[in-house]
Amino acid sequence: MNKERINTLEIKNILKSYGQFPVLKDISLSIESGEFLTIFGASGSGKSTLLKVISGIERFQSGSVYIEGKDVERVTPEKRNIGFVFQKPLLFPHMTVYDNIAFGLKVVGKSKQYIDLKVKDLLASIEMSSYIYHYPNELSGGQQQRIAIARALAIEPPLLLLDEPFNGLDQKLRIEMGNLLKKLQRNYGVSIIFVTHDVDEALRLSDKIAVLHEGEILQCEETHRVYYYPKCKKVSELMGPGNWIEGYVEKEIFYSPFGEYPAPDYNSGKYALFLRPHQIKENEMTKGLKCRVVEVNRKGRSNHIICKFRNTQIVFESMIATSTYEALSEIYLMPDISILQLVSYGRK
Ligand code: ADP
Ligand code: MG
Repeated sequence: MNKERINTLEIKNILKSYGQFPVLKDISLSIESGEFLTIFGASGSGKSTLLKVISGIERFQSGSVYIEGKDVERVTPEKRNIGFVFQKPLLFPHMTVYDNIAFGLKVVGKSKQYIDLKVKDLLASIEMSSYIYHYPNELSGGQQQRIAIARALAIEPPLLLLDEPFNGLDQKLRIEMGNLLKKLQRNYGVSIIFVTHDVDEALRLSDKIAVLHEGEILQCEETHRVYYYPKCKKVSELMGPGNWIEGYVEKEIFYSPFGEYPAPDYNSGKYALFLRPHQIKENEMTKGLKCRVVEVNRKGRSNHIICKFRNTQIVFESMIATSTYEALSEIYLMPDISILQLVSYGRK
């Protein structure tokens, strides 16, 4: 057996322009078998174009795309064996649920018996067995999207691409659909590339996140690393509020406005401690960083309290009633972290 692990997808140095306008600038990415990768980025950052390049719907100017180790430059989209789910379910309106899911299997000439078993298995796994002979217009938006996912999985693709598939759904349904997708990923062992501009959704579902900004991947790493150790300010901002606490390391001690912390294995130099709002706590013993409360933002279950330390703005999360902070002018803050991990300051 070949011991070398072959990535489900590998793309190298993709350049794609529409006319003179570059949309993807030197994109390289890989996804391992069974992995869930999210392409996260604002509207217009190039997410859909990237999926179209992978699936073969769009040509590109240079670079290469390998699917299961094979260069697919000359392979047409329908021969790439990739499942694709769009924002709209795009089911065939004149076909039943059964025929929609069976469609791709009929095209490749599977037997009636095989198709029957496969469609019923998929319908059971998306919990829609009782809708087998319904037509798309008899289903809700969420149900239609579930059928679209089942249809894409029917051909047993090694790779499933989903372009903002849950955008039109309300929050509760969106979470349910995400859970279902994770279940399908585990059951069928399919690798997934999922596109979203919703931070919470990216954090809930992904093994890895690739942050796309103006056609460039700024960071592609495990989910928690992208969220807690962003490589640059742009990545941290795209994923929500955060604080860059600047300081320096000398003789393996990190000196910061919050105080001194042991920093073994760090070379001397400028660093920043990056903290999300929930990683900073108020210190009632008046220890820590003395700040001025500037603003209180209600977030629903909690509040974001905006403070100032000299010219630096700090935002932290609190469960305490907003009126407490509105009456306060001074407050002491401490980081609430178990491991100190610093980001080199000034990195791109
Ligand atoms: P996203 O999916 O992240 O919102 P897109 O990949 O759809 O972004 O678009 C990226 C950029 O490419 C946008 O500026 C968009 O206007 C442009 N673009 C997308 N498709 C075309 C096209 N067919 N022709 C010209 N420009 C396009
Ligand atoms: Mg898009």
